[in-house]
Amino acid sequence: MPRPIRALIDFLALQHNLSIVRKHARNAQIMAVIKANAYGHGLLSTVSALKSADAFAVLELEAAVRLREAGVDHPILLLEGYFSTEDLVVADQYRLSTVIHHKEQLVMLLASKLKNKLNVFVKINTGMNRLGFTLGDAVAALNTLRSHPTIGNITLMTHFACADDPLQKIEIIEQIECFSVIQKKFHLPCSMANSAAILRYPETLADWVRPGIMLYGASPLLDKTAAELDLRPVMTVTSKIIAIQHLALKDKVGYGGHFQADRPMRIGIVACGYADGYPRHAPTGTPILVDGQRTRIVGRVSMDMLTVDLTSIEHANVGSIVILWGKGLPIEEVAESAGTISYELFCALSSRVETQTI
Ligand code: PLP
Repeated sequence: MPRPIRALIDFLALQHNLSIVRKHARNAQIMAVIKANAYGHGLLSTVSALKSADAFAVLELEAAVRLREAGVDHPILLLEGYFSTEDLVVADQYRLSTVIHHKEQLVMLLASKLKNKLNVFVKINTGMNRLGFTLGDAVAALNTLRSHPTIGNITLMTHFACADDPLQKIEIIEQIECFSVIQKKFHLPCSMANSAAILRYPETLADWVRPGIMLYGASPLLDKTAAELDLRPVMTVTSKIIAIQHLALKDKVGYGGHFQADRPMRIGIVACGYADGYPRHAPTGTPILVDGQRTRIVGRVSMDMLTVDLTSIEHANVGSIVILWGKGLPIEEVAESAGTISYELFCALSSRVETQTI
């Protein structure tokens, strides 16, 4: 018998969320961000649900190759670009577009002999200070790329650091202003917006938007829930109660005896632990659903199990259905309680959790 933990992936919810992106994106084309195994949702099944997106963005070269070998014909962008001449040959062979963000990539590109024209996204560092050319270096790079015979379409891109937080609007304005210096000089197609910017800053929509988290149904905004944004959860992680314990007053639960009963309690043992990707740091009080009713985790999360308070859910028993996050329990609530973000929970889901598309 397999363990009862599953990640159920709702195909229709993915398509619904794409329609919400489309509504906000107006005339911009949609490049769905499917890096990290589509944020843990499964690469190929996610892509088949998102066929009506205009392009896909991945980080991993192998993922891009897998998509092409599965017959995906959309434009595919490598978000960090290439790291070696061999990668560039693969990008050429599989018709992958690539981000270029530093001079070393340009040098490699100039020295390579490509068979086809390569479409490139030139990343400008507008203030996040992670990847991207400075304004000065960007001008030189763009002049070189524009006169290079094997370069096809050139798109300008940048990435926002703080679009999720309404209190950090000034940072976005500064990034937009910085980007516009290059935009005005080169008049090329542009891509700026991630999910949060798509929803909050329509002035950043430009030619291509790059939504990730909102496609998976989690809110990208600190001040709005997914339901308020009409986003539907795509992943629901479910498991079952596999044992029941009865605690007397002052009995303790789990490693370290971190939780002590302040009254007689009924405790359910759930087949889900940190080896499944559930955050070990989720404290007592983290919300969880048992048979549709909301209760809380008590004690430490261990490798394969966690413990929940069933004292007020009398009918719950061995075999009762548990929802760790997803339908009925927004992932943001679990993430916040565990001191992390929905992105990390999605991506941390372990390969031992079977994924089923519903
Ligand atoms: N664009 C780039 C360059 C990214 O790195 C990411 C994700 O980290 C995205 C777009 C999508 O961001 P989000 O998931 O917040 O929509």
